[in-house]
Amino acid sequence: MRGILPGSAPDDQKAEKGGILPGSVPQKAVPKGAAPVPDRAREEEPAGRSRNNPSESELLLDRKYSCPVCGSHFTAPAVKAGKAMLEKRDMDLCNRYKNIDPLKYRVVECPGCGYAALDNDFEHISKRETASLRDQLNARSQQMPLSGVRTYEEAFRLYRAALRIALMKGGKKSERAGIALHTAWLLRTRRDSPEGAESGKDYAGEEQNYLKYALQHFLMARTEESYPIRNMNEAGLDYLLAALSYETGEKKEAEKFTSWVLQNRECSRGIRIMAEDLWDLLHQERRLNGD
Ligand SMILES: [Zn+2]
Repeated sequence: MRGILPGSAPDDQKAEKGGILPGSVPQKAVPKGAAPVPDRAREEEPAGRSRNNPSESELLLDRKYSCPVCGSHFTAPAVKAGKAMLEKRDMDLCNRYKNIDPLKYRVVECPGCGYAALDNDFEHISKRETASLRDQLNARSQQMPLSGVRTYEEAFRLYRAALRIALMKGGKKSERAGIALHTAWLLRTRRDSPEGAESGKDYAGEEQNYLKYALQHFLMARTEESYPIRNMNEAGLDYLLAALSYETGEKKEAEKFTSWVLQNRECSRGIRIMAEDLWDLLHQERRLNGD
């Protein structure tokens, strides 16, 4: 099974396959090792300058796709395997990388018909969904082919297109939730990027909207769909629901889901550690608030 969190970004996929979104041990902290290089300095490096300090375009390759809706063959940029350096993982499993933001490259869009989806989902579409999109997409849906380095603005447009298409084809709630979660992550990493700093916006309100959308749709998926859901088992999904509840201010729900995770015998060690941290945080906050 592929992830929600599907990706052309191989490291991201690996983390997801292994992590919550799939099942291995999520990394809790910034790995020790190489000193961080300021993004700004790296951007100003001419391409090809250094093996240790590659430009964003050097970290990309063109991946071939064939569109299941219109049959077009095209290429889209993807992050080279093993090149994105994981820096840290947020509570809700958003991976932060040092040298490139793979989130910018997770949506694939067909220039022939405008069909767009998260990369791991792109070619996995049912016959019913394909037929539905063929009926609804038309000549006006064609898009300019995208190649090379993407801006956050372009990436955001692609996530919005992917969510619109997921609604149009009547896709699973978990797929919509996954796209919304990635969109929230993109807004967050954009805020922390040089491009976000220059824009002067903080995107926090928009990020909250997408987090709430993801939470609502993962909750629906929990009752309507069978596991694995976006590569997550029950404990993994409950942990994500706990984290999203916490981030959107639903502290009681966060506590409920965290306690379910901690009681779940099929919970992986990585998820258990993250759930224990969240449990401690919730109780610390309760003490501070005098509850
Ligand atoms: Zn197409």
